[in-house]
Amino acid sequence: MPTAPLRARAEIDLAALRANVRALRARAQGAALMAVVKSDAYGHGALPCARAAVEAGATWLGTATPEEALALRAAGLETRVLCWLWVPGGPWRRAIEADIDVSLSGLWALREVTEAAREAGRPARVQLKADTGLGRNGCQPADWPELVAEALRAEREGLVRVTGLWSHFACADEPGHPSIAAQLARFREMLAYAEEQGVRPEVRHIANSPATLTLPETHFDLVRPGIAMYGVSPSPEIGSPADFGLRPVMTLSASLALVKHVPGGHGVSYGHHYVTPGPTTLGLVPVGYADGVPRHASGSGPVLVDGKWRTVAGRVAMDQFVVDLGGDEPPVGARAVLFGPGDRGEPTAEDWAQACGTIAYEIVTRIGTRVPRVYV
Ligand code: PLP
Repeated sequence: MPTAPLRARAEIDLAALRANVRALRARAQGAALMAVVKSDAYGHGALPCARAAVEAGATWLGTATPEEALALRAAGLETRVLCWLWVPGGPWRRAIEADIDVSLSGLWALREVTEAAREAGRPARVQLKADTGLGRNGCQPADWPELVAEALRAEREGLVRVTGLWSHFACADEPGHPSIAAQLARFREMLAYAEEQGVRPEVRHIANSPATLTLPETHFDLVRPGIAMYGVSPSPEIGSPADFGLRPVMTLSASLALVKHVPGGHGVSYGHHYVTPGPTTLGLVPVGYADGVPRHASGSGPVLVDGKWRTVAGRVAMDQFVVDLGGDEPPVGARAVLFGPGDRGEPTAEDWAQACGTIAYEIVTRIGTRVPRVYV
């Protein structure tokens, strides 16, 4: 714990993260677990979270960018890492030399990685990504035979080793959505084709958090949860974290920077979108949109102050926002909790998502670097 009071802090409960990883592994029943730690572990801090996940049994780490993957290696993590978001001219050679598995969605990437493997004098570990219906990254079914054939040719030349075949769901967070079964069927077809041609992957995988939690038939050799590992629900339709024995990892709070009396009819914050209905007290919460508090929370974001839920009064500014304390006078420095596990009366990230018309992923991920992470 810090010795000096902090303006704001995001407490990260690594014991909760470890327990969440164990709960997800139990659900995955024998499949390996890849801890998705992209985007600074969804705002929780990539290195401490990656280490905690590995301690709890994750045998793979997943990142979007190669820079994120290389940072894990630079910090001494030796766990297998898959990195899936590449652009031409990316650091293929450094990834090969750092033993990072790289995802390929098209021939351009295969060409670049084989070139880098030639230079490095060792094969690249590659995983072929299938677009089974997400319509984002991944190889279209029509282009799959060529990608598979070229990857096998490169494997015969000793330039790559195809370690994985994989895909990603579009709507796994919407139970019963017809695209789930359609994607799964297409994945099976694309796997079968690649294996008939001679691909021998170590891992086949498609399950993100909602699929890990609710669709055991999608687990294959490995599950790839992100948000659930941080104790946040993928969507209200899937259920609450507690329904799955998961505990939220991040608690975001700030110390009140000012408490003051104001008369009725007083405009509050830019644009005066809130006007005090009568004489009251205002509390100044010193975090704003530069810290990742959504501006959409203006007038709706919930905050626990002195045992009571208050609402963001008026606009969220860059560094601060105001709550109407309704005449209460908590001391300056009192803790305002924006979100946390919810079992001490505070709102949750899901409450914030609802208040801002977004998803809880965005709430935790966008908390900025100006807010220190405090590992507890
Ligand atoms: N796999 C891939 C390719 C992803 O992009 C993500 C995150 O968006 C995940 C897995 C983890 O998803 P979730 O956080 O829903 O578990």
